[in-house]
Amino acid sequence: MRQIEPITKIPEKVIIPLQQHVGAENKPLVSVGDVVKIGQKIGESGISPVHSSASGKVTAISEYPHPFYENVLSIIIEPDGKDASIEFKAEDYSQLEREQIIGIIKEAGVVESGIPVHTKLSPSDVVILNGMDEAPYMTLNRALMLDFPSEIIDGLKILMKATGASRGFIGIDASNSEATNTMNKAAVDDLNIETVPLKTTYVRGMEEFFAKAVVKREISRGHRISNASTMTSTVGTARAAYDAVCMGKPLTETVVSVWGVKKSQNVQAKIGTPLRSVIEHCGGYKGKPKKIVVNGPMTGVAQYTDEVPVTKDVHGILVQYKEDVTTPEIQPCINCAKCVDVCPANLLPNMLAAFANEDRFDMCKRYNISACVECGKCAYVCPSKIPIVQLIKCAKEWIK
Ligand code: SF4
Ligand code: SF4
Repeated sequence: MRQIEPITKIPEKVIIPLQQHVGAENKPLVSVGDVVKIGQKIGESGISPVHSSASGKVTAISEYPHPFYENVLSIIIEPDGKDASIEFKAEDYSQLEREQIIGIIKEAGVVESGIPVHTKLSPSDVVILNGMDEAPYMTLNRALMLDFPSEIIDGLKILMKATGASRGFIGIDASNSEATNTMNKAAVDDLNIETVPLKTTYVRGMEEFFAKAVVKREISRGHRISNASTMTSTVGTARAAYDAVCMGKPLTETVVSVWGVKKSQNVQAKIGTPLRSVIEHCGGYKGKPKKIVVNGPMTGVAQYTDEVPVTKDVHGILVQYKEDVTTPEIQPCINCAKCVDVCPANLLPNMLAAFANEDRFDMCKRYNISACVECGKCAYVCPSKIPIVQLIKCAKEWIK
């Protein structure tokens, strides 16, 4: 049985934000009134382009709410219902040079947590894919491995060729034997690829921690992971690399875990689909929503409207209701050090929060605030309910 249900109903409008990666915003390549097709490049800045996920007419190019930023210049498309696409040029990756693969992935606009993936493809000897679902309610990695095992293995081989890596690993939750067996079967002919069972620990997937868990490599704080000849990525990115190279398809769809709706499930949605349409596909709200969180309860971002579109980095929608949400009273720090014990980056979250609260950003820098991966574990365990990660995020913004 398929784990991921494609949303076949074409939304009434598609909103493609020009900013979907870290770096300079794309400039529109189309004008109001233009007719576009699926896969057509409609925004470009030389870093990571965006493509249309629908065929139809451009009705506006204007600021629009974005799930991770404030309003962002976006291309609004009214679909014509035909789902007509440009002609995709499929390639045999075994015949391509490393630079050609990197160029195709760049042109396809593949990003991962805002980072254009082609910028991660520096020479490495190992590529590790994260197949874990660490955050509560996020089950898309398991679903991807069960539905697209051979595409993920080919995608991993593509990433290995692009980095020159001789070995590939996929870290999978040790209790997830179904996904492990499926991936082992898909990789049976390739001795250089293996699955690694891991104990699920929240933040396992974040680069340094994941590299340490899978290949026992220590990455010193502040060093980019590529410096350690290890490229880490995700099973979703491997599939996107497969689509880009073997199918010639740019990134126009994404898989989203949807929870707190009438039918919680994993769906494949066009980038640009309003959250409201995704939620309607899943049977709608179960009542009056109190909170809509994108990308899980630990590091996710609460939305003020369900009109924001699915972007390349939207992988989870969690709807919460009055009975799910409490507003705890914040108490003074009691120096229990629970936040220190759980911090995966070996920081002093209590100190960072205190300095951030007093706008002492010089001290935040001295206490290495930039190493915080914003996992939210400190705030989760804090008995005084201090919003540590929010204070840290604000301080980081100020420092930036
Ligand atoms: S959010 Fe808290 S626990 Fe997580 S890395 Fe930052 S300081 Fe450490
Ligand atoms: S967990 Fe909360 S109360 Fe305990 S030291 Fe950290 S900030 Fe203070």
